[in-house]
Amino acid sequence: SSIFTAVEMAPRDPILGLNEAFNADTRAGKVNLGVGVYYDDNGKIPLLAAVKAAEKTRMDAQPPRGYQAIEGLGAYNQAVQNLVFGADSELVSSGRVVTAEALGGTGALKIGADFLKRLNADASVYISDPSWENHRALFESAGFKVENYPYYDVATRGVNFTAMKAALLGLPAGSIIILHACCHNPTGADMSDAQWAEVVEACRERNLVPFLDMAYQGFADGIDADAVAVRLFSASGLQFFVSSSFSKSFSMYGERVGALSIVTASREEAGRVLSQLKRVIRTNYSNPPIHGGAVVAAVLANPELRQQWEDELAGMRDRIRAMRTSLVAKLAERGVAQDFSFVAAQRGMFSYTGLTAAQVEVLKDEYGIYAVSTGRICLAALNTKNIDYVADAIAKVL
Ligand code: PLP
Repeated sequence: SSIFTAVEMAPRDPILGLNEAFNADTRAGKVNLGVGVYYDDNGKIPLLAAVKAAEKTRMDAQPPRGYQAIEGLGAYNQAVQNLVFGADSELVSSGRVVTAEALGGTGALKIGADFLKRLNADASVYISDPSWENHRALFESAGFKVENYPYYDVATRGVNFTAMKAALLGLPAGSIIILHACCHNPTGADMSDAQWAEVVEACRERNLVPFLDMAYQGFADGIDADAVAVRLFSASGLQFFVSSSFSKSFSMYGERVGALSIVTASREEAGRVLSQLKRVIRTNYSNPPIHGGAVVAAVLANPELRQQWEDELAGMRDRIRAMRTSLVAKLAERGVAQDFSFVAAQRGMFSYTGLTAAQVEVLKDEYGIYAVSTGRICLAALNTKNIDYVADAIAKVL
């Protein structure tokens, strides 16, 4: 008999399963709102002009492909620190921040989780209810017990901050708390700056270990505006973790470009933390691939390319906003009684629309419109050509 006889079929990833069903659908007008990817107004994943220019320069130079350092490219890590902590960050200039290139935001969370497990094996990890589904899986597979803290409020379609704060204040010291720095996935509901300040104080009071997941910097209000949570934690004097992803903001999904930053108490501590983080990386994948990080670093280091990237990022952000306000207006025009204005107030790529699993099913079966059964839709998959069709269908299923 085979050594694999006892291997059971793993459950299908719900979102990838949705993509498979969408691809198999032969209807011409089908729309996939289930994805977590930014599409342009023509329904295509953009290749940013700034990225194209930096890639051309790099390919023309035909650089050798030696191994990178375990922590990746120095220029890239510095550029990441600059974006995440701000150009004039005292934390960065004083040498207290450790940053390592990682394989996307997921890779950053994974090396962060493995490092934390070595630091405090008995801690529990708390994620928002609901959260990006991979948060639970990643931290569980690193060996942690993962629990939820209250976050989304169905009634207001916003954050149930009272319940969230009460929960944080009741956590055991040393608990690891995963926070979406901006553009909460899947709900689109973010905290206000004042609420973030209260979260920082709760973390201080309870000695929690904050881990900010920043996968959408620049997708809500702008590069610095979206880093408010990081800046407040930076000013607090606490130690914390930040995972960054450039999958969305550079539209470089498949290149796996991300980073993990760890804020420590001193330059000396940073050196020790980096040495241990390198051991974690070494036993996961040894060192990161070259191309994606080199391209991001080149864009950020060149003033013209950086400006071009910022303009292109603003273009993506503005288009998502336009789709949000347009969907709200179009639903109202179709006589939908329910107030959908919350869709325009939510931020980032996603919205918890409040559509039920049954309504999502009808959208798929009768209209070829695919959404996650939780009612999450990706606003970045809407465009000026499909939005009327989608608004018509939603108005009919409500
Ligand atoms: N964290 C959150 C909240 C996300 O939504 C995503 C991507 O969907 C990630 C992390 C992972 O990013 P990456 O694709 O760069 O691994």
